[in-house]
Amino acid sequence: MRAKDQLLGAHTSIQGGVNAAIPLAQKLGFTAMQIFTKNNNRWSAPPLKEEEATSFREGIAASGIKFVMAHDSYLINLGSPDDEIFNKSVNAMTDELERCEMLGIPQLNFHPGAHLGEGEAFGIKRIASALDIIHERTPGFKVKSMIELTAGQGSALGYRFEHARDIIATVKHPERVTVCIDTAHIFAAGYDIKDPVKYQEVIAEFDCVIGLERLQAFHFNDSKKPLGSRVDRHDHIGAGFIGLEGFRNILNDSRLFRVPKILETPKGKEQLEDLENLARLRELIEV
Ligand SMILES: [Zn+2]
Ligand SMILES: [Zn+2]
Repeated sequence: MRAKDQLLGAHTSIQGGVNAAIPLAQKLGFTAMQIFTKNNNRWSAPPLKEEEATSFREGIAASGIKFVMAHDSYLINLGSPDDEIFNKSVNAMTDELERCEMLGIPQLNFHPGAHLGEGEAFGIKRIASALDIIHERTPGFKVKSMIELTAGQGSALGYRFEHARDIIATVKHPERVTVCIDTAHIFAAGYDIKDPVKYQEVIAEFDCVIGLERLQAFHFNDSKKPLGSRVDRHDHIGAGFIGLEGFRNILNDSRLFRVPKILETPKGKEQLEDLENLARLRELIEV
């Protein structure tokens, strides 16, 4: 793939239903998008109708959107030591995978989870066991469970590449697990992607610990908080501590041209801010 053919887009609103995201994303010129497949602040949602799913799959196929991913509900915590929350989370993520499979969405992004004081080793095992139950309930599904790397706020896991590695090494079906790098998160977690030399080291480390082939999406967000702050606050591209330099490093790395890049930067209802952020990213691509 050539540098200028990289898939770029943003998280897109589903106000009015999942199908409403397609014309909005097209109007904004996205070649990639992320959606929620339901209200992200609720545990459950009415099931998707077959007509709605068919219309979504056909709409995407007929559009210029070449990659779609979903982000799961913010309530889900696969690392919870509380059995009730754990079971609710497992059920909710199973439902989200089912929705993605119906919609033909290939990647369901999730935050690995928080151990809430039980320790990281406990958390990793708990998350892996949740994924095993979820994958067992959804045999043969094409959609992957995509671990999003995190800033490591509180007891959230996923702020070290090793956490993703250990989850993948523990699950029964590692072929069903992929990884998403959120630039703001890994920067806040201490991975310096701004400095060009350190950037190379970070990517080499990812490749060594997890393997670059596992990397199937980027969340492209600048960070309102400094390197190593462990605080997750998204900023507009170039406005935060990562700055344009960090995004230039990634966008001109030929190993990563194939990986779609999706904005989760602040936006209003019309998402016009996405246009400005995308224009800034496109200018960084050297041809
Ligand atoms: Zn996320
Ligand atoms: Zn974030």
